[in-house]
Amino acid sequence: MVPRVFFRTLLGCRPSPAGEEHWLSDEPDIHLFIPGPAGSTPEVIAATGRPMVPHYGGRFVAAYNRCIDLFKAVFQTENDLFLIVGPGTASLDAALSSALPDGARVLVPSNGYFGQRMAEMANAHRAEVEVVEFPLGEAIDPEAVRHHLETAGAPYDAVAWVHHETSTGVLNPIEPVAAAAKDHGALTILDAVASLGGADLPVDAWGIDLCVGVANKCLAAPPGISAISVSSAAWSVIDANPSSRSWYLDLRTWRRYREDWAAWHPFPTTVASNTIEAISTSIEQILEEGLDARIRRTAEAAAAVRSGLRRLGFEMFAPDDIASPVTTAAYAHPELPVVEMQRFLMERLIFISGGLDDLAGRIFRIGHMGRSIERTEVELLLGTIEEALRDAGVAVPERVDLESIWA
Ligand SMILES: *Cc1c(COP(=O)(O)O)cnc(C)c1O
Repeated sequence: MVPRVFFRTLLGCRPSPAGEEHWLSDEPDIHLFIPGPAGSTPEVIAATGRPMVPHYGGRFVAAYNRCIDLFKAVFQTENDLFLIVGPGTASLDAALSSALPDGARVLVPSNGYFGQRMAEMANAHRAEVEVVEFPLGEAIDPEAVRHHLETAGAPYDAVAWVHHETSTGVLNPIEPVAAAAKDHGALTILDAVASLGGADLPVDAWGIDLCVGVANKCLAAPPGISAISVSSAAWSVIDANPSSRSWYLDLRTWRRYREDWAAWHPFPTTVASNTIEAISTSIEQILEEGLDARIRRTAEAAAAVRSGLRRLGFEMFAPDDIASPVTTAAYAHPELPVVEMQRFLMERLIFISGGLDDLAGRIFRIGHMGRSIERTEVELLLGTIEEALRDAGVAVPERVDLESIWA
């Protein structure tokens, strides 16, 4: 039976280019296969429903500091780490705002929407931005980045790039790019918003000076808090930065409050107190399972989805060796438009994403984050996609044996 559906078109909202509905749902059993936010566990959901508490005082400060420590464990870092209220983008803005003097030279290796977005953001911070572009569906090539650094007329202040390019489902190399940047005296700024908690990210071992993650993707917690780690090399640059284009998003502001108001209010504004509690619950569950085990399970879910989709006749957008464990992008089925497939799934409260910009209508994307990596969820998704194909009259090559997709 088709579950009751509560999504409706909001008055005045136009459909997005991908044709996705704007919806509201009070249906508890919603299946998010979008690349964030991700479905949370019942314990995390329960933690969001507690009464409001003050965001200051000894008890809250202890809980807040504990949340920072939990994030540090996932970042695999001993660097400073701040929890900034806002989306991942807030911490990216904090990194660029704090570390780039006006006119700084920034190199942005890019292979998709989020790489371009990083360049746009650095531009907004009055940097002189150079983009090294790689084709959509391919990974950033560290040798090409190194070559660019070597042959550039003047040194770069920073290299900024994206770990998991969510628009194409490609996982970019980190360590060799960071090494090239370091060899040329540039600071490393990484958008790890989508990969944190779903792919290995040893921030210190890989030499990332400013690394940004978020609570609501692979950490499967509610949105509202982003995290940024700051190396001592980054602090040297930040301390010497004569520019300030923000107060709230200047990491010096955050450090000052952490020092001056340490005992009762170690941050400059109100923080999302209940969200902090829910995030800690979620990271504790991940660490209980084991970070490695969670990362492995994420990769297994991605591999199973790719295998199932192929058996249904879909072609993958990115080759297996660079495909991200966190998001799968596949070409639209020639006989079933993405929007129609999304509609069929949405009517069953299953949500996947379409393509962005030039890829709208050409690909669809499936997130492997939080609840969506559970085996029953993966099988529900593939079974329903198969149903959508049959419903559209597509000759499905074989009934997908859901046992066989798990290698
Ligand atoms: C989701 C995402 C962002 C944006 O995160 P917000 O929390 O919406 O600001 C940035 N970069 C990447 C790679 C993402 O996947």
